[in-house]
Amino acid sequence: MAEETKEIRKPLPEITPINQPFWDGAKAGKLMMQKCKDCGTWVFCPRPVCGDCASDKLEWAQLSGRGKIFSFTVIREVVGQALRGFAPDIPYVTAWIDLDEGPRFCSNIIGCAVDKVHIDMPVEVVFEDSGEGVTLPKFRPATS
Ligand SMILES: [Zn+2]
Repeated sequence: MAEETKEIRKPLPEITPINQPFWDGAKAGKLMMQKCKDCGTWVFCPRPVCGDCASDKLEWAQLSGRGKIFSFTVIREVVGQALRGFAPDIPYVTAWIDLDEGPRFCSNIIGCAVDKVHIDMPVEVVFEDSGEGVTLPKFRPATS
């Protein structure tokens, strides 16, 4: 009996009408985020109303894609079947990035050895095509 092989994939984001502009922006090479027109707060993850003042007057704005690492962790082991798709990437870095415009954003740091990543490291966004119709914003060491 032939052994059945299944392709192991990473989980991808669910695209909804609320978050569609974020993913469309990523596909176009732009880091987009909602901003409240009433109180000026950046809003992420995408939602129908501002998390600070509950206003529904949100607009999409493009960020520079530049920032500094606030904190990070190095993932060295995959635990559980649901995350098996990440095993080929080990070790990899997941980080909180303080974007120059103010909001804090969670992503991966790529394009650099994991032992070179440090807090306050300047980083810039890069866009990675998942091959599954979704482009993921990730960050690398800033080039300038
Ligand atoms: Zn607001």
